[in-house]
Amino acid sequence: MKEISAGGVVFRRVEGELQIQLIQDRYGKISLPKGKMEPGETVEQTALREIVEETGIQGAIVSPIDQIKYRYSHESKGLVDKEVHYYLVEAIGGKLQAQVEEIRGVEWFPPAEAWRRQKQSGYHNNDRILGGALRLLGLKIAEES
Ligand code: ATP
Repeated sequence: MKEISAGGVVFRRVEGELQIQLIQDRYGKISLPKGKMEPGETVEQTALREIVEETGIQGAIVSPIDQIKYRYSHESKGLVDKEVHYYLVEAIGGKLQAQVEEIRGVEWFPPAEAWRRQKQSGYHNNDRILGGALRLLGLKIAEES
């Protein structure tokens, strides 16, 4: 079966300093907030709904980043071909709070630290997504590593 999800790299500025949101997913990996599309939703609506549901943060889409594709095996669904659409999202409100049924945690990090954690404990296919977001934000970290 095929599954389509959407999510985002969420950023905010605190006293002029950029911060990037990372989650720890329910499998224990560093990742980005995302979730499955619901009927009648656009991918952008899915991304913003899932970000607020999982992390408590209300966001605004800045631009698309890219998509990733992977395959996993689900006990009842069988082989799932998954596609996840990611957006660069600016935090505009809400309060950071992990929805513990869906994710283990969520935190803000300076960009270099977010990149280090992603490289160390993230899914490899998200390197391109976080790297793309940092580039869109005018940062050079991704190219240097
Ligand atoms: P959603 O957040 O879209 O509702 P979910 O929690 O149902 O998703 P996934 O996050 O896709 O499902 O996780 C299903 C399986 O895929 C798990 O084994 C997870 O570790 C793995 N997985 C999650 N993200 C990635 C990724 N970026 N690349 C490869 N495998 C991943």
